[in-house]
Amino acid sequence: MVAMSEKTTTDQLFELLSSVTDPEIPVLTLQDLGVLRDISIDDGVINVTITPTYAGCPAMQTMRVDIEKALLKAGHQQFNVKESLSPAWSTDWMTPNGREKLRAYGIAPPLKSSCDQSSGGIECPQCNSSEVKRISEFGSTACKALYQCQRCLEPFDYFKCI
Ligand SMILES: [Zn+2]
Repeated sequence: MVAMSEKTTTDQLFELLSSVTDPEIPVLTLQDLGVLRDISIDDGVINVTITPTYAGCPAMQTMRVDIEKALLKAGHQQFNVKESLSPAWSTDWMTPNGREKLRAYGIAPPLKSSCDQSSGGIECPQCNSSEVKRISEFGSTACKALYQCQRCLEPFDYFKCI
């Protein structure tokens, strides 16, 4: 066990927690998702603020536990992980790097929430064709919709924007 030393900074904590990944999409870190909102240290107690992605997403509980585990592993004993629901999380918070990782993972990244998803703009993560067809409103999880590319016929998940 390591007592939190004076040299622990919020920057270091950001770096530590940036490596915590989404339990459903392991290529995405909480930073990529924009879930990690704030870290402060008050009287030796670390306060981490996260904003849940989809309300009621079971992954959120796992994320919280993963954050707590990462803190414990780094020797921190005193911390609070708080959820901030306002402003509500939006897929627009996902970083460009996160979107690129999502595409490389085979999931079409969310369009900007201001876009009308029915009018297209979703591209096949395999061949970048925009000739895609929605197969189902729900993909492997409620957060995603199932699409199929009309060019390469590859089915893929689209990370729905909110
Ligand atoms: Zn394709």
